[in-house]
Amino acid sequence: MPPPHRVVVLGFDGVDPGLVDRWLDQLPHIRALASYGTVTSLATTNPPESPVAWASFATGENPGKTGIFDFLKRDPRTYFPQIALVSRRPGRFFLGFPIRRPLLINNRHGVPFYEIAGQAGLKTAVIRMPLSFPAHPIGNAELLAGLGVPDARGTWGTFFYFATDLPAYQAGDTEFGGKLVRLRRQDGVDVASILGPNNPVASPSRPIALPLRVSRDGRKLRIQAGGRQVLAAPGHWSDWVHLAFPASAFLSIHTVTRFYVEESAPEVRLYMAPLSFDPDKPAVPLSYPSDFARRLSQDDGLEKTLGWWNDTWGLNENRLAEGPFLDDLENNMAVTERMTLDVLDHDHPDLTVAVFTATDSVSHMFYRFLDPASPARDPALAARYGNAILDVYRRMDEIIGQVERRLSPNDSLIVVSDHGFHAFRRGFNTNSWLVAEGYMVLKSAAGGARMNLRDLYDQGSFFPNVDWSRTRAYALGLGQIYLNLRGRESHGIVAPGAEAEALRQEIRAKLLAYRDPDTGEHPVEEVSEPARIYHGPYAAQAADLQLGFRDGYRTSWQTALGGIPAGIVELNTRKWSGDHCASVPSETSGILFSNRRVLGRASILDIAPTVLALLHLKPPAAMDGRPLRFAP
Ligand SMILES: [Zn+2]
Repeated sequence: MPPPHRVVVLGFDGVDPGLVDRWLDQLPHIRALASYGTVTSLATTNPPESPVAWASFATGENPGKTGIFDFLKRDPRTYFPQIALVSRRPGRFFLGFPIRRPLLINNRHGVPFYEIAGQAGLKTAVIRMPLSFPAHPIGNAELLAGLGVPDARGTWGTFFYFATDLPAYQAGDTEFGGKLVRLRRQDGVDVASILGPNNPVASPSRPIALPLRVSRDGRKLRIQAGGRQVLAAPGHWSDWVHLAFPASAFLSIHTVTRFYVEESAPEVRLYMAPLSFDPDKPAVPLSYPSDFARRLSQDDGLEKTLGWWNDTWGLNENRLAEGPFLDDLENNMAVTERMTLDVLDHDHPDLTVAVFTATDSVSHMFYRFLDPASPARDPALAARYGNAILDVYRRMDEIIGQVERRLSPNDSLIVVSDHGFHAFRRGFNTNSWLVAEGYMVLKSAAGGARMNLRDLYDQGSFFPNVDWSRTRAYALGLGQIYLNLRGRESHGIVAPGAEAEALRQEIRAKLLAYRDPDTGEHPVEEVSEPARIYHGPYAAQAADLQLGFRDGYRTSWQTALGGIPAGIVELNTRKWSGDHCASVPSETSGILFSNRRVLGRASILDIAPTVLALLHLKPPAAMDGRPLRFAP
């Protein structure tokens, strides 16, 4: 029996209730919802971080049951960070033939509400859903995976920057996952290699390289690679280019990218977006059914498929300017809008779920213009891009209006964000603090090496300068501290039980008491203990302490990478100037809008059981959230 009415759930990552309030008179559709439905805040998870919160959104379960506590988790045997969302088992090949396909495993546990609906036979469409990669069969549903889909190199998104005037000392890997490559001039043509996906057939595995050739055609550049060519003018993005990287005579990895020409003469400066898996010939399960991604590409212009959709890293490393970053972000938002409206118009699903990430990316990168105290504020850029976040909120409002127009009076619209936003002015070097307090001991006084993102992926040396035989605690990820526990960590020295508990309380008290010497503020406002906030089969995998920073502070960039720089608090002068990842959850709520009047307070854990109840399906007992009540 079909449900009595349809449900549409729109997710807008990182929309902050305070900013919605501030701009409500410029958001007409949301203002209308406030008058007859609901516009309120939505309690988030601890930490208030996208993977953690979207996992709980989908399953209605706390992180102790979903197993997702951060972007990163660590291997206690090696102290190495690992991507928390997806694990990978390499394939086996014989003479270039695959005899065992590489296996990808989604580490998010629990059953999402859209999967329950699809399995119950309800027509379900899910667009760019975080933590749903690799896509697997879910009954009468179609799904395109979002956050968690890697780029073709297996990273969050490695951008490339090619330039004829790149100084030799800059060439190589940037701190946050870019490749800077010098173009060499040969007979009037500038050449370089694109280091693409790792070759799964080769042993040891190494990147497959494609030659890149760049020549001038008037003011434009003619860019050639892998048998394809594209023309692009300075100040413009090129068309999308489909590049096939040959792994063997039988296997190519199909990717898609595009170029932004910063300068064509006299020097050539060229940005290349991260290599996405091609939606037409995906090497990995981007969607269910497998041809759903192809349909979205043909009908709605889906090209880029990696989960981290917007080019934040290129902008943060100053290799892509604000203008092209925003052009791309607007395009990505428009593609998600087209896919969503197309599905609503043509498939008429009982349940539609679509997640937009432009709201989060633009807030991370442009918070500096909302925050008068931002160290990254630049008056000339502020004059030009001061409304960047507001403009994306206005687009969100238009999209809500477009969806509402398609609903019948009995249909339900639920709009959520996973967390709010804060200024990020000052970075806290958690490991440096642990060293200063004697909880972490270094082998040499020179301090720890500066790290870059490649260290995370290439498993080079992590924490190379730490003396584990004298270290009692270490920090990893965006707000987590682990004890070096005997029997759990391979070089653990802290005895489980009373000693560990006393150490935990001591670290907690000292962190809360710490004052930033420059501002006099306490950067750490809350320190949570996992046993008090998580329950379920994976709770034991959580960190031993979860930090909650006050507005203005975040874990430093180097701490996130395992670095131990000198100094405890440092200015964040980067363009990535807003954050939320280890903020105090009660100060970092997301939003809840609905065309129906919600009664009482709501948490992101309540959305899954609420949607199931609206569809007349029984929420599983494992769900921690409760169905929201609506005014009659
Ligand atoms: Zn974010």
